Amino acid sequence: MSAFGDAPVGDRAIREHVEVVIVGSGAAGAAAGRALARAGARVLVLEEGPQVAPEGFVADSFGAMAQLYRDAGAAVARGPLLIPIIQGRCVGGSTVFNGAICWRLPRDVWERWCAADPALAEALPFDAIERALDEIERDLGVAPTDPAIAGRKNDLMARGAAALGLEGRPIRRNVRGCEGLGRCLQGCPRGHKRSMDASFLPEARAAGARLFAGCRVDRVLTRAGRAVGVRGVTAWGGRFEVEATRAVVLAASAVQTPSLLRRSDILHGPVGDGFCAHPGVSVGGRFDEPVRMWEGATQGYEVIGLRGEGLKFEALGFGAEILAMRLPGVGAELARGVATLEQWAEWGAAVRAEARGTVRPSRAGSTVRYALGDGDLAKVRRGVRVLGELLFAAGAREVSIGVHGWPERIADPSALARFEADGPRDARAYAMAVTHMFGTCRMGSDPRTSVVRPDFRHHAVDALFVADSSVFPSNTGVNPQNAILALATLCAGRVAAR
Ligand SMILES: Cc1cc2nc3c(=O)[nH]c(=O)nc-3n(C[C@H](O)[C@H](O)[C@H](O)COP(=O)(O)OP(=O)(O)OC[C@H]3O[C@@H](n4cnc5c(N)ncnc54)[C@H](O)[C@@H]3O)c2cc1C
Ligand code: SF4
Repeated sequence: MSAFGDAPVGDRAIREHVEVVIVGSGAAGAAAGRALARAGARVLVLEEGPQVAPEGFVADSFGAMAQLYRDAGAAVARGPLLIPIIQGRCVGGSTVFNGAICWRLPRDVWERWCAADPALAEALPFDAIERALDEIERDLGVAPTDPAIAGRKNDLMARGAAALGLEGRPIRRNVRGCEGLGRCLQGCPRGHKRSMDASFLPEARAAGARLFAGCRVDRVLTRAGRAVGVRGVTAWGGRFEVEATRAVVLAASAVQTPSLLRRSDILHGPVGDGFCAHPGVSVGGRFDEPVRMWEGATQGYEVIGLRGEGLKFEALGFGAEILAMRLPGVGAELARGVATLEQWAEWGAAVRAEARGTVRPSRAGSTVRYALGDGDLAKVRRGVRVLGELLFAAGAREVSIGVHGWPERIADPSALARFEADGPRDARAYAMAVTHMFGTCRMGSDPRTSVVRPDFRHHAVDALFVADSSVFPSNTGVNPQNAILALATLCAGRVAAR
């Protein structure tokens, strides 16, 4: 396929008539596209970014960011601290370069959604979500990380968890034939990761869907209170307009979907409010032995024993060039550190934060405002402490917590408890990143407090659906890809039933 998929590249403006147009080809768009095409609908998926084949993925992290990530990975949530918000802009969306970690939607999360809005229990029954997840897991080959390709960083985390008596397990991943090349975050060069570009999108096309890449939707078109299509611009400088007779399905992500709605003057309900996330922090540890964190399954082990506290820990797997940036020291000290690069491992904590932020369209795309509260920062401090303790328990000689105002190197594990108690209350002392986002077009029965109904239909505009994690009433505390795939599949079922 060309970089623009099935799009008719040329000088003429594109005009298409379909039954269903889907905006975005990431987890939500691919799942909705596959389900709708299989249900017999004439579907067109529009994606702003390019199609990149596995052999075109580049090995270096910054090159991959330029190629596959939105704003080259430089977009930030604004608050006291600028927090990178990392998203995809390519066919397959963020699934192309995500860590392949698979989780089912936890029942306790769903129960809390239903307790707050009982209509959800009826419209979105847990057993329907479970059935969708069963099929998704089967189709994506989800299985625990194969110990043969796990790599040292993952084995060491298992050792640390066992020593501390914390529950952990090999990560369940959507891969087939993974060789442990450690390049998931740059896109798997061998196509082993079952990201959407390599799985649901080809399956959607096989069922008759078309995919236009390089097509950015700028406006949802409405007539007499009904969504009738979309229009936008192409990467080659043209324009397109798509008429959709049955439905417009937004799957552009929890940041881009609310911006698109607002840009289209569809301002009903708390659109763009309620942004929530799992900010992540990481801690490095130096071992006596070689770890080579860039080798093995990119992310192959997780510690889940503190999920009830809103904390989840994962072995990380970014490239050596990123790891080098995280080493303590400058000048000669940093140079000596780089010489020991293969002895370092970096592990991360995902924090289920309570904070709620906003998303608004801006000239640059979208502006996200987000500020962590005191309780969230207490969780961050605890997360840093536990990461350090895990590293020491696994055999690290020293750890580097990367928190401003605190020693760059910690060799005494007892210092970590002091850090949790006395560490900074000011968010600006920390380095964080966000990769999981939710809640900006919440689903619910009350049109004053939600944007879409419990069946994914927009409260005020007919034939308009939202399929991505914008609709999640809250964050989930676990990696969201498969929950998004499941809910988008159920959304497609509602569209198909129209
Ligand atoms: C680095 C990283 C690692 C992650 N690791 C994991 C993991 O291991 N496990 C897990 O469960 N989750 C992981 N996630 C999260 C997961 O990948 C995302 O939650 C999920 O992909 C979101 O799905 P989505 O469809 O909402 O958005 P995306 O997958 O981001 O896709 C949205 C797509 O819509 C396109 N789009 C946006 N606006 C427009 C427009 N106006 N017109 C046309 N197209 C548009 C975008 O270009 C993009 O391709 C990770 C995320 C990141 C960034
Ligand atoms: S770890 Fe390597 S081989 Fe395995 S899926 Fe990721 S990039 Fe592909």
